[in-house]
Amino acid sequence: MNCQESRELMSGYLEQYLTESQTALVTEHLAGCAECRQELADLDETLRVVRGMPEREPVFDMWPELAAMCADIRMELRLNPADRVRRWFVSFILAFKDGWAILLENVGFRASRST
Ligand SMILES: [Zn+2]
Repeated sequence: MNCQESRELMSGYLEQYLTESQTALVTEHLAGCAECRQELADLDETLRVVRGMPEREPVFDMWPELAAMCADIRMELRLNPADRVRRWFVSFILAFKDGWAILLENVGFRASRST
């Protein structure tokens, strides 16, 4: 067995799920190869660290975002129709203003380049 083959079987060797003959081959290789013994020790250490880590559930907490949206909707529902229209108008004006600023900037940029 060469180093490459021994390293491919190393985690199985540590976890003891190799066949008897595979285990014997790895053991034999390790006996004569200091590099692979080091590799085995490193892997063992790594697995220990990994196993020692507490398992954590992934967190998908959308609530803060959702709560803000709900508050927005509730506020809008409390408004009377005239206020709602005013609100929409204001957001329309703001969007229009942004669009206008972008347009002007673009036109200004082109104009300054063409002269
Ligand atoms: Zn080796």
